[in-house]
This record gives sequence, C-alpha cells and structure tokens, in this order.
Amino acid sequence: MSGEKSKGNGLKIMIIVMVAIIVALVVIIAKISTDKPSDPGKVVINTSGADGTPGVMTALPHGGDTTVEPYDPSKTDSPEGPTGAPATGAVVTPIPTATSVPTPTKKPSGDLPLVDYSGIVEHVFTHSLVAFPELGYPKDISDVDKVMNTYFIDCITVPEFKAILQALYDDGYMLVNINYVYEKDSNGIPRLKKSFKFPEGKKPLVFSFDDTCYYSEKMGRGMIDKLIIIDGKIGTYTKHKDGTVVQGFDEEHIPILDRFVEEHPDFSFNGAKGMLCLTGYDGILGYRTQRVSDGDGRTEADRQREIEAVKPVIQLLKDTGWYFASHSYKHGVMERYSTESMEDCAYKFQKEVIPLIGETKIYVYPYGSWKRSSDGKTCPGPQRVLNDLGFEYFCSVGANWYANTRADLGNVILQDRANIDGTAFVWFQDIFTTHEETGKPRFPSINFREIYDDARNISYDDAVAAYKKWKGIE
Ligand SMILES: [Zn+2]
Repeated sequence: MSGEKSKGNGLKIMIIVMVAIIVALVVIIAKISTDKPSDPGKVVINTSGADGTPGVMTALPHGGDTTVEPYDPSKTDSPEGPTGAPATGAVVTPIPTATSVPTPTKKPSGDLPLVDYSGIVEHVFTHSLVAFPELGYPKDISDVDKVMNTYFIDCITVPEFKAILQALYDDGYMLVNINYVYEKDSNGIPRLKKSFKFPEGKKPLVFSFDDTCYYSEKMGRGMIDKLIIIDGKIGTYTKHKDGTVVQGFDEEHIPILDRFVEEHPDFSFNGAKGMLCLTGYDGILGYRTQRVSDGDGRTEADRQREIEAVKPVIQLLKDTGWYFASHSYKHGVMERYSTESMEDCAYKFQKEVIPLIGETKIYVYPYGSWKRSSDGKTCPGPQRVLNDLGFEYFCSVGANWYANTRADLGNVILQDRANIDGTAFVWFQDIFTTHEETGKPRFPSINFREIYDDARNISYDDAVAAYKKWKGIE
C-alpha cells in the first residue's frame, strides 16, 4: 500500500465521517423540532402572558400573610388541573423528568474578596407571581374591590418582580442563605452572627417566597399550577380552563431568579437563591402530597404518584441553591392556636412535609401571626411546641427591619420580613427607600411607582386612592 493511496483513503474516510456527522446533526435538529409541541395553538412555551380564559374572581382565595382572616382548609376544593384527570380534549404535555440535572450553580459570587460584614441582614418576601394578570386582576369591578378582593395586595406581576430583582442588584444586595447568618452561642441559644465573611461591597439579603404550594383553590386565578423540570431546569406548568397548557421559565419567581443569577453571579453568595415557605395541607410545589382524606377524591396511589413526581423537583431546587422553611401545615392564625392545635398542625408538617424536603430550622408564621408571651417572660405553649421540634429562627411580617433573639419566645430568633407586594407598592415607599430608625438608604433603587405594572388593571394613583379608602386613611 503506497503512501499516496493511504492518504487518499484517509481523505475519503474523513469526508465520509464528516458527511455522517452532518447527516446526524440534521436528523437531531429535525428530531428536536418534531419534539416541539405539534399544536402551537394549544401548547405555549416560554410565554409570560398566555391567553387563558379570563375568569371572574369574586373573592380572594386564601389571602396571604398580610390578611387577618384565618384560612379554613375544610373549604379546599378537590384538586383540579394537571394533577387531576385532564379535561376531555385538553392537550397535556408530558412532564419531563429529571434526566439531565445540571451541575449545582456554586458560582464564586463574582471575584470579590471576602471581608468581615457586621451590618444588618435584610429579609424581604413575596408570594407566587401573578403570571396571567387577566385572570389575577379582573377589570369590571370597583376600584376598592380591585385592591381588596384580588391578588392586588398580596402579589406582584412578572415584570414587577424582574424590576425588583434589578433594583436589589443595583443597590448592592446579594442573596444569602438564612442558615449562614445565624449561629448558636456557648449556651446553645441561636443568635444572629455579629459578623461573617461576605464579598466586599455587597449587602446580604434573604429573599423568601411564601405559599409555594399552588393550592387547588387558586388554580385558574392567575398563578401557575406547579413547578416542573424542563430540560434539566426548574420550569412551570399551567393548564388554563380552555385546555391550553403553558410551560416555560418566565411565569414564576424561581426560574426567573435562576436566570437572573446565571446572568449576575454576584447576586448570589455561594449559590444561594431563595427560601421557599411551604405549608402541607394541600401538598407542596403544586403536587398533592398531603394525606388522603374522606371525600377528597384521591387514593393513596394518587398520593404516592404525586410524591414520586415532586421528589426530583425538590432535589433540583436544592441542587440549585433553593432551600425550605416551614410555613405551618394548615396556614392558620397562630395567635388563635391552643397548644394542642399547634401540636396537631406541627406534627402533620413533620410527618408529611419534612420527609420530602428534609430538616429545616426556619419557621415562617402564616399571616405573620405569632403568640405573645402572657407575662413577657414565659414562652407560650404553641411556641414551645415549635421550639421543641427544633425550629430556631422564626420569621414574621413587618416592613421595618427587626431581628433579635427573644427570651419571651423561649430563646429563638424572631425576624420581621419586609413584604414586597401590593401594600408596599401603594403605601411603603418611604420605608423601603430609607431606614426609618437610622435614616440611612435602604433600597433606594426600588421605586414602586415606576415598577408598577398597569396589567393590574387600575392606575397607580387610583390604587393608592382605593387603598386609602379601604383602610380609612385620610
Ligand atoms: Zn402564607
């Protein structure tokens, strides 16, 4: 075999290989395009405002932490939507499984040197986003109803959330895991760290997200139905009343924040994202993992299927910097709880939710409601129940900054969280701009009037007026 012939053969082989690669690529691309939903009119990918059937919401289902009405789980409708049987003719896209979990985003928080930080740690929170404003913010009701009886007060929209993230970033905040900012003293009493290592020039921020459960009763009212895994990332799933299915990454805080941190690694310290505050009475993350009860139309097999389906979602959340807090099992008003009712609520959470999410030392009071000590010294019974279960860090609601170890609560940390929601938008601008006590800048880049989304179907000024009217403020 001459050298020339061997060279010629080599060239031929190379050409054959290259042609084979090109053919393979064409086949793969063709396959990817056929894997896309065949009926784009029914399945919408990556949209933030799909045309679902506008519904009329006459009353706010399960108000958030800032309302005072207790929630009654017995009124929960049976689950409907993607976890139930699909309606006839509905197009339901199969939920992808966690086949390609990405490497955890343990990015080095930029290249900033670590220095000792000894300032305060801000803690803000919001609820699930209103992804479909035409459902969450009805038009044809009075201004006061628009503010009082919709998601106006408790929730924000997708564009508002994105603007908030940008403002927090512009103000030098960086997300931190709440478990990093406290420690136990020599007596085993939890306290905020006086100082800790943090990237130079950055300010730590805990961001929590309440009720990431996607309750059955909220379905079809403007929020997503559940979290799913799409292409190895956390995405969302929503089925509208007309059968339209929306899947994507632009409808809820989790995928939006994931992408923001991808684009701004120096917004996350050690990969930290947000704290997800879960109840248990209607499952978690959009999966009906709660116990089967009489008349709820579910079987134990249904429940086990949901449990298996949510596990990879939980794992991926954890792998990508998200972490969990207990938000109680029932979402009741703790001030009205007896020790016995607290035991029942807390033990159900320990039994049904903790095995799925793992241990947590953080407890977020529903409605921000906590039980005061009767004499300023003795820990109230319901609080003792939670302390005995190992919870150490308790979070309430309050626009001003507050955090301290409380002897009257049995030596645990109590912290207020500033609510980023409709109330803040129309009423808390000054508290967000400047620290009330110190007069120092707080979140100077957050300008609620500018961020305000007209998709709320009421102008900013009309909303302020309606809010004042509702609250009797002159
Ligand atoms: Zn809540």
